[in-house]
Amino acid sequence: MKYMKISGITGEKIAELNAMEAEELVKWAFDNFGERAAIGTSFQLTGSVMVDMAARHFNKFRVFIVDTLRLHPETYDSVSGAEKKYGIKVEIYGPDKGLLKDMTERFGEYLFFTDKAKQEYCCNVRKVEPNRRALATLDVWITGLRRDQSGYRKDVEKAALTEEGGRRILKLCPLADWDTDRVWKYIREKNVPYNRLFDKGYDSIGCIICSTPLVKGEGPRSGRWRWFNRGSSDDKKECGIHTTNPKGGSKK
Ligand code: SF4
Repeated sequence: MKYMKISGITGEKIAELNAMEAEELVKWAFDNFGERAAIGTSFQLTGSVMVDMAARHFNKFRVFIVDTLRLHPETYDSVSGAEKKYGIKVEIYGPDKGLLKDMTERFGEYLFFTDKAKQEYCCNVRKVEPNRRALATLDVWITGLRRDQSGYRKDVEKAALTEEGGRRILKLCPLADWDTDRVWKYIREKNVPYNRLFDKGYDSIGCIICSTPLVKGEGPRSGRWRWFNRGSSDDKKECGIHTTNPKGGSKK
């Protein structure tokens, strides 16, 4: 099978992709890029939806997770649940042992409580660097970003060419224009297995300690790193993986 090359993605094609419905876009990615496309997910709701969409069209497709070694048990359960239901093997990218050792020896395991810079350092070692390794194997990165998740994400496009690790890749956010109700509707109607933390008040899930359940009235990402940006918007609550959001601008 001859797949497309990233150099063949024109501005016209990007406009066409942006007009596609979510499932159509997921299918297009695997049809046209095969193993050079993958869904990158932390097994939040949108990731589960995209995996289900892909499984409706393909027996085999790539899905990866960054395992920070600090994930909730419910997230590991979601990985095994998806593998069982869809007959797939989720690829796992973990932190580089040397970088992790250096970081914890210098600053301890809980450096993220100290200040924003150390939280970003920890996220960089545990999330961003492994994610970058995953992206080095791809031309098309399919992610679950949605515009309603925060101000930082409000302009995310469904499709855009972006730069990751000095290479051009196509970043797809098929559910960019979905809201929470639509995501839940899909999950319930199609009986999609989902991360049980969502039944326990969580609305955004990352590592244990750094993600917590919401209280009534809080924004979707308010449970992240509660000890920073207290009382301010969720807009600065990013781990660094999505700093090159299509139209997303800087995370600062
Ligand atoms: Fe470290 Fe917390 Fe970021 Fe996880 S979410 S990588 S524990 S700072």
